[in-house]
Order: sequence, then structure tokens, then C-alpha cells
Amino acid sequence: MILYNDAILERNEVAVSPEDRGYYFGDGVYEVFRLYNGRLFEPEAHKERLLRSAREIRLSLPYSADKLTRRLDDLVQASGVTEGTLYLQITRGCAPRAHGFPAECTPVLMAYCTEAARPAAGMERGITAVTVPDIRWLRCDIKSLNLLPNVLAKQEAADRGVNEVVLHRNGTVTECSASNLMIVRDGAIRTHPANNLILHGITRKVVFRLAQELALPVEEEPFSIEELLAAEEAFVTGTTVEVTPVIEVDGRRIGNGRPGPVTRLLQERFVQEIARQTGR
Ligand code: PMP
Repeated sequence: MILYNDAILERNEVAVSPEDRGYYFGDGVYEVFRLYNGRLFEPEAHKERLLRSAREIRLSLPYSADKLTRRLDDLVQASGVTEGTLYLQITRGCAPRAHGFPAECTPVLMAYCTEAARPAAGMERGITAVTVPDIRWLRCDIKSLNLLPNVLAKQEAADRGVNEVVLHRNGTVTECSASNLMIVRDGAIRTHPANNLILHGITRKVVFRLAQELALPVEEEPFSIEELLAAEEAFVTGTTVEVTPVIEVDGRRIGNGRPGPVTRLLQERFVQEIARQTGR
């Protein structure tokens, strides 16, 4: 089932216009929500970020935020997906190709749910990564449809036989292709500040809350590739990867090359948070 503007339709009932500005320019924004036990995890935070992304690119939603909430709930019900993701995108709409905003243009909203298990192997064993220059624009805080640098970076990881990329600007680590990166040093968690150079992850914020409950200090300070390689532990946070240990970067082991105790503790607490919010 697809939520297409206001209607919930079968997949084969949805026809996308060749003049959609999403195709021409990537002129739109998106969100990915996680579904556990048939319920959305952190729905308000995702909706807030969607509204912010839309505002930042001067895109108005096709309908109110309250109605969006109801339509997403309807979509989840109609899909029957219990464990998975909900993908949602809004483009500026359809018009003959010209860069400037069209005078008349109705935004196009599209969303659907996909069944997907939690990534057990990565969460348990940890993942490997290589460092790659961050060639994205200077508004990475906007969840824009323009993902070509992320696509190329992720493919580079695959080509080099690792799971993920660590993006850096002149040696300063920003984040990964679709997740935020945190390191543990002297028992404190360190991660890039939520400015224009990273996506302000929802999972990142959940982890901050869990860290606070555990009395683990969190420093929102940039760190270098050298500091990453010398860290006691490293892990990524994201809607689909939750809290996943990073055990190797550029062929060098992080810590002892196994998921560390702080990472494990946060993973444990994260599962409790999922249960608290969704009853899973
Ligand atoms: N950074 C980037 C570039 C991402 O695409 C994502 C995934 N949305 C994240 C970080 C993690 O954000 P979240 O925890 O909200 O999924």
C-alpha cells in the first residue's frame, strides 16, 4: 500500500509524473521512521524534523501536521507491517523543467512501509568502515532527497569490502553515509555537534537520553580520524541500525576489535526503550 498525497492506494495504482521536481532536481525532503510491533518509534521527533527540513527548503506540506499523523497511522494499519520502516518523501511538485520555484505547484507526498528485521549481525558483531572525504553540501542538517554523495560513498565501502564509510572534512569526522558516529574516550561519549555539517539524528538524541540516565558524559565536540582510531570504542546510531558497534576503521582495530562495554550497555538500554515506546 502507498500513501499518495491524501489517498492510500495499491502499488500499481500510483503513477508518478515525469515532470516531478524530485526527478529533475532532487527538490524535496524525506524521512525514515522505524516500526516495531506495528508502532512507530519516536514519531513526533521524525515529524518535527520533516517539518523543519521542509521549512528550510521553503516547501509547504500538502496538508496539516495533524492530518499527516492520522494518514501515517492509517498507512501503518493498511500495510500490516509490524517490524520494518516507513519511508516518506515530499517533493515540490510537478512543472516543466526550470530551476526556480514554479508559480503553480502542488507538493507531492508519497509514503510506504517495508517489512525489515533488525540488523542483528551488525549489532552483535560490529561493522567495519573506511574513511572517505565528505563531499556533501553545507546543509547536511536538511534531510534532502539529494543523496548522490552518500550513494557514492556507500558504494565505495562495498567496493572496498567494508560495511560503511566514515565521512570527514579535512580530517575532522562528521558522520557516516546514513548514521551518526560516536566514540568513547576516557569513559565519555564524543560526537560531532548538531550543526549544518551533519544530520541531526533522532537515534543520536535517544542515545543522549540513555547516556544521561546512565550518568555517562556526552561531549558534542568534533574529533579527528586519529582520535577515532585511538578511541576505546566507536559506534554508529541510526533509525535502521539502532546502536551498532564499529570495530575496524581503515584496517585498524578500534579498542580491542570487539564491541565495547559502553556500546553494549547502550544497546541494552536501547532495546528497553523500544519496549517502553512500542511494547515490543
Ligand atoms: N546521518 C545521515 C546522513 C543519515 O542519513 C541518517 C539516517 N537518517 C542519520 C545520520 C541518522 O539519523 P536517524 O537517527 O534520525 O535515523
